[in-house]
Amino acid sequence: MIQLENITKSFKKTQVLKNINLTINQGEVVTLIGPSGAGKTTLLRLLNWLEVPDSGRITVGDAHIDASKYSKHDVRRLRGQSSMVFQHYNLFKNKTVLENVTESLVIVSKLNHKEAEEKAVALLKKVGMGDKLHDYPANLSGGQQQRVGIARALAVDPKVMLFDEPTSALDPEWVGEILHLIKQIAAQGMTMILVSHEMRFVRSVASRIIFLENGELVEDSNPKELFENGKSVRTQAFLQKLT
Ligand code: ATP
Repeated sequence: MIQLENITKSFKKTQVLKNINLTINQGEVVTLIGPSGAGKTTLLRLLNWLEVPDSGRITVGDAHIDASKYSKHDVRRLRGQSSMVFQHYNLFKNKTVLENVTESLVIVSKLNHKEAEEKAVALLKKVGMGDKLHDYPANLSGGQQQRVGIARALAVDPKVMLFDEPTSALDPEWVGEILHLIKQIAAQGMTMILVSHEMRFVRSVASRIIFLENGELVEDSNPKELFENGKSVRTQAFLQKLT
């Protein structure tokens, strides 16, 4: 379902991803963990072409793209496969909750306004925001804004959901409810890739954990194996620092 082949990425002289090869199957919930600067967010953003790799090939669903030669059509097709949930929500501040979700349904999914609104309302109810449809982001808590961000990402029926540290900008009191919502989406069989520093959550939601360090994929295990018996010395050192 997702394949990265020989992916490299540098920012100026720093190589941030070094020849990454990775396959993720449908329905897997994969978390990327690792120290700050390891390349986790960059790896996630490549899947939606928010960062462009220097070399390599990416497949998501039925879209394939090669960094050495690609068209605007290839990028559009790749972006159509996945949705991203951002650390800082990235909502349109001058639009209401409902407008934030309907916008992508009209522009991306080409629904007419009535259909878009019906779908948006149903999704916003599902994430517990049915009573805030006409509020603006500035009047919402961080947790509520992230609920809208999640509804907006789900609205376009992505094959894959990408979460970039979805709780790290939240006050502690809102973290639990967002993690609970993400778990509910995972339980419905959605393929997901998450970058998270919430190790208890990572352990409970992930079917697979990838440890990245210095742009290299150091370990790729199931949660039990990784937390109880991290194979690599580098993984063990990282986990020990957290406890
Ligand atoms: P964190 O856990 O701190 O978010 P991370 O593992 O997600 O870290 P990335 O955000 O992918 O790491 O960053 C990897 C490296 O690339 C870092 O050294 C970062 O400073 C650098 N970097 C990321 N984005 C850019 C950019 N747009 N321009 C220049 N350097 C960048």
